[in-house]
Amino acid sequence: MQKTVLITGSTSGIGLSIAEQFAAKGYCVAFNGLESDGADTASRIALKYKTKHMFSPVNMLDGDGLRAWVKDIQKQWGQIDVLINNAGIQHVATIEDFPWNKWDELIRINLTAPFQLIQSVWPYMKQKQFGRIINIASAHGLVASPMKIAYVSAKHGLVGLTKTVALEGAPYGITCNAVCPGYVNTPLVEKQINSISKQTGQPADQVAREQFLSKHAVKEFISAQSIGAMCLFLAAEEAGSITGATLPIDAGWTAQ
Ligand code: NAD
Repeated sequence: MQKTVLITGSTSGIGLSIAEQFAAKGYCVAFNGLESDGADTASRIALKYKTKHMFSPVNMLDGDGLRAWVKDIQKQWGQIDVLINNAGIQHVATIEDFPWNKWDELIRINLTAPFQLIQSVWPYMKQKQFGRIINIASAHGLVASPMKIAYVSAKHGLVGLTKTVALEGAPYGITCNAVCPGYVNTPLVEKQINSISKQTGQPADQVAREQFLSKHAVKEFISAQSIGAMCLFLAAEEAGSITGATLPIDAGWTAQ
């Protein structure tokens, strides 16, 4: 029987790369994302690897919608083997200027939605006595940077959530781990680089080098493929004893 994976935010950036790698291994992939061409992206990948897929544009802010999405996948495919909580947003501002509505939105997308999805898949994974839950946290789940108070709080929260899920899942064959990337050159990071470049008049490559890659010991962006490869490994039967872990893929950032 083909295994199934549900990946949030999988029509852009890191999530899309993860989805492509799972599709290449023959998983049925449930895609999600807000990109207007998301449905086309999902069917293109599924066609390329000749695998089954579903696509939902459900918003992470819609808890009831998330529950209905999971029910629908279970109904159509009869099982949910892997959940990857990847969708996320960033907002950069000082503490003084940080808008309350942005704080709420970011916490709901980056932290509450993963909890709601875990709660939704739980009965199915428990019944099957097998489940793999992977949370895409961040190096910012382990260390902080200024101007990113909501993001750093949400990602630290996601690391804590991961540990609780690992403990509660242990009797049922459900593992839960947090992957903590450093900077990957996706639309999420590009937006930040371009906005600083606009504000300061510095060229984007200088901003990338001085304000982003300066955090890495290896002065390069991290490839999205390396995140997908780690997720594939964590999803495998052989990774059954890896649970409650936080796994940095951060070019040495948090080793310093
Ligand atoms: P991205 O902006 O390229 O993709 C984010 C995806 O999430 C998109 O598909 C978007 O549509 C979806 N999304 C955003 N808000 C949503 C919502 N409300 N409802 C449904 N979907 C929503 O970003 P990315 O860089 O690929 O980031 C993916 C994850 O990796 C995020 O959780 C991010 O925090 C994390 N991360 C990224 C980096 C990096 O350097 N890019 C580093 C560490 C962690």
